Amino acid sequence: MKLDVNMLRYLSKEDFRVLTAVEMGMRNHEIVPCELVERIASLKHGGTYKVLKNLLKHKLLHHDSSKYDGFRLTYLGYDFLAIKTLVNRGVFASVGRQIGVGKESDIFEVATEDGTVMAMKLHRLGRVSFRAVKSKRDYLKHRSSFSWLYLSRLAALKEFAFMKALEEHGFPVPNAVDCNRHCVIMSLVQGYPFVQVKQLQNPEVVFETIIGLVVRLAEHGLIHCDFNEFNIMIDDDEKVTMIDFPQMVSVSHHNAQMYFDRDVECVFKFFRKRFNMSFHECTDDIDGTEVDTDSSGRPCFSSIAKDTVFLDKELAASGFTKKDQEVVEKFIEGGLEKDASSDDEGTGDGTHTSEEDASSDDEDSEDATHISVLNEANIKGVDSLHLLDQGQT
Ligand code: ADP
Ligand code: MG
Repeated sequence: MKLDVNMLRYLSKEDFRVLTAVEMGMRNHEIVPCELVERIASLKHGGTYKVLKNLLKHKLLHHDSSKYDGFRLTYLGYDFLAIKTLVNRGVFASVGRQIGVGKESDIFEVATEDGTVMAMKLHRLGRVSFRAVKSKRDYLKHRSSFSWLYLSRLAALKEFAFMKALEEHGFPVPNAVDCNRHCVIMSLVQGYPFVQVKQLQNPEVVFETIIGLVVRLAEHGLIHCDFNEFNIMIDDDEKVTMIDFPQMVSVSHHNAQMYFDRDVECVFKFFRKRFNMSFHECTDDIDGTEVDTDSSGRPCFSSIAKDTVFLDKELAASGFTKKDQEVVEKFIEGGLEKDASSDDEGTGDGTHTSEEDASSDDEDSEDATHISVLNEANIKGVDSLHLLDQGQT
């Protein structure tokens, strides 16, 4: 997705105020009625409509008049709100080139005033997962606040919380710097995705390190669920860093064994194919510790996994709750990167069609009457923009 951050400079206070008003309205509305935007934004000198037109022109909003006249944020609009918040907090000062396109994210370089470069991951749930969402229709019916904003925000929060907790437990992960909305800021990993690496000095050592990570995670009660050559970074000294955590599950998950075995299999398969390795000799002693393996040298889930209350405290410290985990787990299935890529609908407005997919036949004729009721509820429930001006936004 194109992210012309120069545009940020030309957006006024009023622009952001109205953009934030649409975001707030989206807590209860998929499409936020114009009058509601106007009321939440309550610009001193009026002119909300003109501002809306400007935001629309820059593709920060999407206009929808199918049922009533209203707006919703585009991913670009959401990006700008997150970026502005983080810039205001002093986390970074500029946005650079795009360094990665994941199946459900875009990754950019960002830099601080003094030139320190970090990575910014913008989560984009809805690119592929709305198909999954569609099949969870019953669940969604009872969730008024559901939207791709909510899911992307939750995915980012989960990723941030796990990264931070894993870092504290000595796992080789990027340093988790900050998080806002659907955006995670982390240290930039030097090196390359493992999938690009054709040769290693010490394939056995790297192999043991990587399998050792899967084992150590399980010992801590966790499974990565997408542990493959796309989510492992490796530098010139063959130092390994793991990334990409929104789909992690606990070893008590009902599919835990399958996810664990799949992670292990991915590693074995990649090393066999890319580095022509055979295994049974080197896996009994993984990363300096003895591990139970089966006859093919693969670590045994049942003898490793410890259902500890791992990281509960650490995760909660980042604001990621058990409830959040339940919600996120319903929507993010640990799918393999390669499988999902063919499913990718691309960028930009593709998101919207998928979003509509997810909700279209969900709507009933009562909707129109709900709107006026929600308007009132909304206004009361909404934090004042003044508070946000000083705090979050
Ligand atoms: P997704 O969840 O969409 O798969 P990832 O977190 O795997 O996203 O990131 C996608 C790609 O972006 C990675 O394969 C990697 O090339 C790059 N990337 C992600 N995080 C970092 C980082 N901290 N430093 C450097 N590159 C990164
Ligand atoms: Mg990835």
